[in-house]
Amino acid sequence: MITVQFRYGTDNLGYLVHGDEYALAVDGGAVMEMVDYLGRNKLKLVFVTNTHSHGDHTCGNRELIRLSGAEFLDVKNLPEMGSIGLEDMLINIFHTPGHTADSVCFRFGDAINRRYPV
Ligand SMILES: [Zn+2]
Repeated sequence: MITVQFRYGTDNLGYLVHGDEYALAVDGGAVMEMVDYLGRNKLKLVFVTNTHSHGDHTCGNRELIRLSGAEFLDVKNLPEMGSIGLEDMLINIFHTPGHTADSVCFRFGDAINRRYPV
C-alpha cells in the first residue's frame, strides 16, 4: 500500500492511498494534482472521503467524483463502517472527535494520518 501526500490551500494535506490498480482519496482538495498522479500511475480512483466535514477538506469531493466516477464515503458514516477495503488492504478507521464531532483518522499500514497542522 502506498500513501501519497498532497499539499493544497494554505495549510491542508490530502492523501491518495493505493495499491497496484485502485486508489482512495482522503481530503482531495488538490484535485488536479491527484488526477494527474492517478493518470501517470494508471490508477482508478474508487473512493473519495474526508477526515472531517469542514469545507476546506471537502472542497475537492465533487470534482474528484465527477472526473473519476468514484464512490463517495461520507465521513459521518465511516466510524460505523470501521474499515475500508481496497484491493487486498484494509484501511482502519478511528473515530477521533475533537476538532469536529465527526473527525476520523485512518490507519494505512503502519501510518496514521491526522489533520495537519495539529
Ligand atoms: Zn477542520
